[in-house]
Amino acid sequence: MGSLTVAGTITTADVGRWIREFGRLVAENKTLLTDLDAAVGDADHGSNMARGMAAAGEAMDATSPETPGTLLKSVGMTLVSKVGGASGPLFGTFFLRMGGVTASEWSADDLATALRAGLTGVVDRGKAAPGDKTMLDALTPAVDALESAVAAGADTSAALKSAAEAAREGCEATIPMLARKGRASYLGERSVGHQDPGATTVTLLFDAAATHLTDAGAGAAQ
Ligand code: ADP
Ligand code: MG
Repeated sequence: MGSLTVAGTITTADVGRWIREFGRLVAENKTLLTDLDAAVGDADHGSNMARGMAAAGEAMDATSPETPGTLLKSVGMTLVSKVGGASGPLFGTFFLRMGGVTASEWSADDLATALRAGLTGVVDRGKAAPGDKTMLDALTPAVDALESAVAAGADTSAALKSAAEAAREGCEATIPMLARKGRASYLGERSVGHQDPGATTVTLLFDAAATHLTDAGAGAAQ
C-alpha cells in the first residue's frame, strides 16, 4: 500500500514515471528526431537522446533514487556523461538543475521552481536565446506557461497541459526561424523551413509530463 499524499503532489515515483515515458517517446520518435537533424545538422539527435535515456533508465534501476531531486540528478549526470554532441550536456544540465529542488515530494510551486532552474541551466550552458531556433524555443514558452498557470491557481495537471501546448506551439514556430546557435547555424539561410530537432524533443518531454507526472485521478476518490 502506498503512503497517503496530498492530491496533486509529485512523488519520486511520479517523476520516475515521467522520465520513463519520456524515454519511451524518444525511442518511439528516434527516426523522426534523426530525420529532423539530418535536415539541419548531422543526423544523430534521435540516436543521441535514445541512447542517453536508455542509460538513464538503467541508472534508475540500479540506484532506486529516493527523492525527485536525486532521481533527476542521476538522469542529468547520465546524459552529460553518456551523450556526445550538444544535446547531452544541454538536456543533462536541464535535469541536473531541476534536481536542485530537494523537497522529498513536490508541490506545483516546487515543479515550477525546478523547471525554471532547468531552463536557466540550459541558457547558462548554451548561451542561446529564444528565436535562435533551438530547444529553448519550446522550453521557454512551456516553462512560462506552467509558471503562469500555477500562479493563477491551476492544479499541476492543468498547468502541465498548458505547458505541453505551449511547447508544441513554440516548436512549430522554429520552422521559419534562421538558426543562430548550434550546428544548424552553419547552414545559414538553408536552416529556414525546418523544425528544430531539440525543440521537438522538448515537446516529447512535456507530453510525457502532462500524461505521467501527476496521477490526476488518484486524489479524486476520497
Ligand atoms: P549536435 O548538434 O551536437 O549534433 P544534437 O543533434 O543531439 O547535437 O542536438 C541538436 C539540438 O541541440 C538542436 O536541435 C538544438 O535544439 C540544440 N542546441 C544546439 N545548440 C544549442 C545551444 N547553444 N543552446 C540550446 N540548444 C542548443
Ligand atoms: Mg546532431
